[in-house]
Amino acid sequence: MENTDVLVVGGGPAGVISALTSAKNGHKVILIDAKSYEEIGNKTCGDAINLGPLKMLDKELGIKFPSGEEVADDVEALVFQTDKVTFPLFGDGFVLNRHPYGQRLLKLAVESGVEVRAETKAIKAIVDETGVKGAIVKKKGETTPYEIHSHITIDCSGRNYQIRKTVPSHLFPNLEKKMEKRDVAASYREIIRLKEDHPYAKKILLIYDGKIPEPGYFWIFSKGPKRLNIGIGWYLDMSVEKGMKELFREVLHKYYPPGTYEVEDKGGYTIPTRYPLMNAVTHGFIAAGDSAFHVNPFSAEGHGPALAAGYYAGKVASEALKAQDVRAEQLWGYNVAVMKDFGLSHTKLQLFTEALRKVKTPGLEYLFKRKILSQDQFMTLHGGMSLGRSEVLKIVLKGFPRYDLLYNLYKIVKGVQKFDNLFERFPNSPEEFPEWENEFTTVMDNIRNW
Ligand SMILES: Cc1cc2nc3c(=O)[nH]c(=O)nc-3n(C[C@H](O)[C@H](O)[C@H](O)COP(=O)(O)OP(=O)(O)OC[C@H]3O[C@@H](n4cnc5c(N)ncnc54)[C@H](O)[C@@H]3O)c2cc1C
Repeated sequence: MENTDVLVVGGGPAGVISALTSAKNGHKVILIDAKSYEEIGNKTCGDAINLGPLKMLDKELGIKFPSGEEVADDVEALVFQTDKVTFPLFGDGFVLNRHPYGQRLLKLAVESGVEVRAETKAIKAIVDETGVKGAIVKKKGETTPYEIHSHITIDCSGRNYQIRKTVPSHLFPNLEKKMEKRDVAASYREIIRLKEDHPYAKKILLIYDGKIPEPGYFWIFSKGPKRLNIGIGWYLDMSVEKGMKELFREVLHKYYPPGTYEVEDKGGYTIPTRYPLMNAVTHGFIAAGDSAFHVNPFSAEGHGPALAAGYYAGKVASEALKAQDVRAEQLWGYNVAVMKDFGLSHTKLQLFTEALRKVKTPGLEYLFKRKILSQDQFMTLHGGMSLGRSEVLKIVLKGFPRYDLLYNLYKIVKGVQKFDNLFERFPNSPEEFPEWENEFTTVMDNIRNW
């Protein structure tokens, strides 16, 4: 048995940043990951990231922006596209080469004092009635697991959410355990090299193709001259006649026929793609990144939110250790910080996802083609803000006679207002949480089941 102040499970973006932040604050930190040291940070991904969280890392931790071999292309526009319509939005960011960027963050964590144990898997949480006390872990190739005891355990194990799911619900009912099929997207992507250059420089495209069950999509992200990251994804509760790779190839060949490209890399994985956990803490425990549903539920971008959540987790854990109080009451500020940063906007984006499930690609085309929703209005709603009454009236007039679409837009506008109202009253402590959560669940269930 060993002891540490902070045990971080998982060395993805959420894990390295929470470990680094805790270590910079002077605490003893052990970070474990199932992968080898050299493979940490390497993940099958679309590789796109927006500037917001990177600016935060620079300001708060002095971590410089990705550069050199870490960057495949700059991003200046996010484009929504169907066979008939193209709808560009402004969006600054990068298409990364995740592996070198992830390795740089890992190196910075080690330089800050983090002890990394690679090829070490968490099996389950160590728990007693007073909270989470660490994890039972096993080193690859060894037969006997061992215990790491910690004052605070941060679950950054991504889609596995290995610690959260092994915390007993009867002891800590505030911590949600489920991950339903409708909340997880399956995804497959290839990095291809073309013979000719492509027209997608500095762009990331989300393509809604009737063949892919909405709100799933096909993406084309520029990886620089002659290279693209192309992928496909949809929710696990959707039934599709064809296999994912077969459908991927079919859609890809509409853009790049066989013989025009070489596959450099391929892979698939699942992404928990839902509004965030409203509470991601219990005594001695914080969940961050994919393990806490921090992926944007509309675009499936989770890298940036994982970095941001990792920072908040490390900061709040450090404050709790200094106060020698690791109870949920002391860690609650983590929930507040996540909700303020991206939690509320992701919750509102769940509305778009639900609407797209209903109106499907032809509905989206109708909206964009008839300019029922302007780019500014889309950006406003997408950014989680409300529209004024006169704007709503104009939309109604332009949308005639597609009342089905208008009904869904109305639901979005109303939902945005309801969540604004609810989050103004976001609980300040675990005691206030159950009542608030009941109200939240009623609103969310109504929206999801409309
Ligand atoms: C195909 C695909 C495309 C994507 N495209 C984009 C995109 O373009 N932009 C974007 O922002 N996001 C994208 N995402 C999502 C993004 O990859 C994740 O949201 C992000 O990596 C989450 O970071 P994380 O640290 O929470 O988890 P992860 O990056 O998944 O890291 C989890 C770590 O935990 C380790 N681990 C897991 N279980 C255990 C265990 N039991 N014990 C020890 N270690 C464990 C893993 O080895 C891994 O290193 C994509 C995801 C996929 C699958």
